Amino acid sequence: MVTKRDAILNGTIKATELHKQLGLQQALAGGQAPIDVLGVMHHLGLVVIFRPLEGLLGAYLPLPGVAGIIVTTKRPLQVQRFTAAHELGHFMFKHAVSTDKDVGFAARGEIKRYDPQEVEADAFASEFLMPKWLIAAHVRRQNWTLNELRLQPYVYQLSLRLGVSYEALCWALQGHGIIPRTVADDLRAREVKAAKQVAAGDVKPATWWADVWTVREQDNGATLLGGPDDLLVLNLQEHTTAGYRWDLSAAERLGLTIKQDTQLPVPQMEIGAMPTRRATLQGEVEGTLLLEQRRAWEARGNAGASLKFELSLHGKESSGLPRVARLKHA
Ligand SMILES: [Zn+2]
Repeated sequence: MVTKRDAILNGTIKATELHKQLGLQQALAGGQAPIDVLGVMHHLGLVVIFRPLEGLLGAYLPLPGVAGIIVTTKRPLQVQRFTAAHELGHFMFKHAVSTDKDVGFAARGEIKRYDPQEVEADAFASEFLMPKWLIAAHVRRQNWTLNELRLQPYVYQLSLRLGVSYEALCWALQGHGIIPRTVADDLRAREVKAAKQVAAGDVKPATWWADVWTVREQDNGATLLGGPDDLLVLNLQEHTTAGYRWDLSAAERLGLTIKQDTQLPVPQMEIGAMPTRRATLQGEVEGTLLLEQRRAWEARGNAGASLKFELSLHGKESSGLPRVARLKHA
């Protein structure tokens, strides 16, 4: 009989092996993107199909010669990604058929009865999407402190960059010993909407299901995996005294809507402080957003500073093959 502890360890080890096999730790050492779990599954030759499942998050169906995986279309992208990683876990362990009403509960110690197969798949999913090295890489990139990881707005922003739910990240931070259980319990008890409101300021998203990203210069070069209603709140330092302004026209050319564009006042006492421009963008786009700061009389490409973001703002996967498979077959 596999104990629960062993099952968690098995899942963690299996995820680490797959990270190594795919060279993911080196590839993502800069904390510039989440784990592309659907891309990995496509790379491994796994067939993943999205369907509007009723009362089921996903299923793993090992058939002779081929393993099939189904994931619901009825949950947000972050839940779809965790479910897909859970089913990938079943595949890696060559488990029997699994129909999953829920994922993520078993590895968290919430239930007394447990199925070792489900605990292995959950532990795999958690470790595959949120290994300590990837959390550390993102935290380093953002220049956050360990103390900041006890605060909801930071944990929420980190969850967006890892492409996981806020709650799943609270469990992972606790599991890795990055925050104590009491802090994790407190974070889980808070509604995630509060963190969205903090980030959104006075611009409201179309729905509070959408996410609100606080995009900073630290995100330069990063991949932002979000949804069509998400707000990207950019805080940009602007050398206005030297005549520099950020040119946001590239955002509009890419298909983004500028919901807000304001200059934040510089506190009088902060001598030499640079004015900050706050721009809130939204739209269902895919592509590279290159923003440049330049003087009004200078041509494009002659910038004083630039920022580049890889945007994938389609939100949840819809019925059929995952986007990554459709793009590669096209
Ligand atoms: Zn399962």
